[in-house]
Amino acid sequence: MLVTLRDTPADAEITSHQMLLRGGFIRRVTAGVYAYMPLMWRVIQKISSIIEEEMDSIGCLQTLLPQLHPSELWKQSGRWQGYTAGEGIMFHLKDRQGREIGLGPTHEEVVTKIASESIHSYKQLPVSLYQIQTKFRDEIRPRFGLMRSREFIMKDAYSFHSNEKCLQGKYNEMNDAYKRIFSRCGLKTVAVDADSGAIGGASSQEFMVTADSGEDLILTSPDGKYAANQEKAISKASEPLPLPEGKSCFLDTPSQGSIKELCSANGLDASQIVKVLAMLAIKEDGQQQPLLISLRGDQELNEVKLTNFLSGLLEKPLIDLQPITQEKLNAQGLGEWPFGSIGPDLSNELLKKAKTWENQFIRLADKTAIELKTFVCGANEIDKHRAFITWADLGVHPKTSDFRKAKPGDRCSHDPRQKLKESRGIEVGHIFQLGKKYSKALDASFTNEEGINENFWMGCYGIGVSRLAQAAIEQNHDSSGMSWPISIAPFEVIIVPANIQDPLQKSLSELIYQKLKDQGVDALLDDRKERAGVKFKDADLIGIPWRLVIGRDASSDKVELTKRDCKKTELLKTDEAVKKLLEEIFTNRS
Ligand code: ATP
Ligand code: MG
Repeated sequence: MLVTLRDTPADAEITSHQMLLRGGFIRRVTAGVYAYMPLMWRVIQKISSIIEEEMDSIGCLQTLLPQLHPSELWKQSGRWQGYTAGEGIMFHLKDRQGREIGLGPTHEEVVTKIASESIHSYKQLPVSLYQIQTKFRDEIRPRFGLMRSREFIMKDAYSFHSNEKCLQGKYNEMNDAYKRIFSRCGLKTVAVDADSGAIGGASSQEFMVTADSGEDLILTSPDGKYAANQEKAISKASEPLPLPEGKSCFLDTPSQGSIKELCSANGLDASQIVKVLAMLAIKEDGQQQPLLISLRGDQELNEVKLTNFLSGLLEKPLIDLQPITQEKLNAQGLGEWPFGSIGPDLSNELLKKAKTWENQFIRLADKTAIELKTFVCGANEIDKHRAFITWADLGVHPKTSDFRKAKPGDRCSHDPRQKLKESRGIEVGHIFQLGKKYSKALDASFTNEEGINENFWMGCYGIGVSRLAQAAIEQNHDSSGMSWPISIAPFEVIIVPANIQDPLQKSLSELIYQKLKDQGVDALLDDRKERAGVKFKDADLIGIPWRLVIGRDASSDKVELTKRDCKKTELLKTDEAVKKLLEEIFTNRS
């Protein structure tokens, strides 16, 4: 069932997505939902086998967990609200008894419950479980085919330990297994420090397939010692340009609402300014907390760092962060605020009449803003700023942390002589030391050596199987189509009789096909009654690593052998061609 398309599908933006559709590997059913056609399913199965071998080799046991999750479990872990309300990505429904159910986007809750019911003593630990299964996520922006879909295949593993050291040991083993998996799949990946979400502290690494179309921005040091997702990356900011000495004073700053305008009208450098972002943190219980975040004028806010900090600070989980706008103020009956001239000391009085907001700001400041001795900042009055101000003058004491985005060109923290470079990546895997977050929340415990009840130490480890399959194309293609790494190619060789109506070509093709099959080679015979040109084009498009063409030279027992990635072709005696193929395939099997 090889059905290829001649034209590039209009709704596919990136090459790998276009090629998978054109090659008949996948078909879209609705937004973010795809059918894996027979060729694609072979790829998925080959990737799955490699993953299974590597997981089994480190003692991980394969299971299959349910996809219908009762809401109670997710309420117990505190994730139900965040995953179902607002921008939450969990599909959820009510069953005939009116009980709420979620479709599994990830399985920490379910697996923790099961472990807690089956493991009672330290003597049963450690245990690692994994599964390869469809996950459901109602992504806000499903796109790029299998890269960000709403139904996709994931390998997820979970480990349970009696102590942190044991967890770290498994995490390192997983790290090595992941490297082997990606390299066996023929992918070039980098491991980067990743954000560990609201959990904080624990280690987390992502594996990125480097590709220009990647959604993630990666920052790396030239010496290769540091690599991180921008969400997580740290750096040394450039030195600020000190303000000259001066007495604190007001500046008239009409139409200078932006840092750029303020700088050019007053001869300032952006690093001499403290800018203030007014935002609203929306908590799980619906409470809305106004925030004032001070940043150095030349720096940008990293929302992930802010979210993590707030999650540690607020009693209830955070579900959203939004900028405070005049519209929001109107809805609260709070009048007009001096946007463009807000200072870190904007008065709490402004919140007094708020209807549903808390009536005190939480004031936060990035370290680089706090380190400024004197600076320029808003005067809390429209079209007015203050210059030569100190934090002591303002009389506020914001909570300080690293809230800024690391940027390419920033100096590296481990060696300020080096500058961070940027590249793009596709996240294909993520490993994570969870610690006791879920075992505590779900009251999952075992009896330790001292006879005391203790919560499990846990790790979780994911691979996006379907995303990985597409990422392989992003890294391996040319203008005529895909070029699968042989270990995950749907077939290792395609046999193309130029003219299937020619009895000699037909019989020789079938003979070779049978010979290869008997030797355990994954061979595909293109016995369609298409023109030779069409078949060659299709063979190039679907990217089978080796191609054998049986054409006119069949009469002199000669066939043409082509390697897809370099398109090198040789005319060989049939036996020689088969021998060469077998050698190439068997020596390169991983
Ligand atoms: P992302 O940041 O890309 O949304 P994530 O960090 O939410 O992914 P994890 O929960 O770490 O994803 O899931 C493990 C793996 O599953 C990811 O590394 C990725 O390869 C894959 N994955 C996650 N979401 C999707 C999706 N919508 N479509 C396809 N694969 C996905
Ligand atoms: Mg992830």
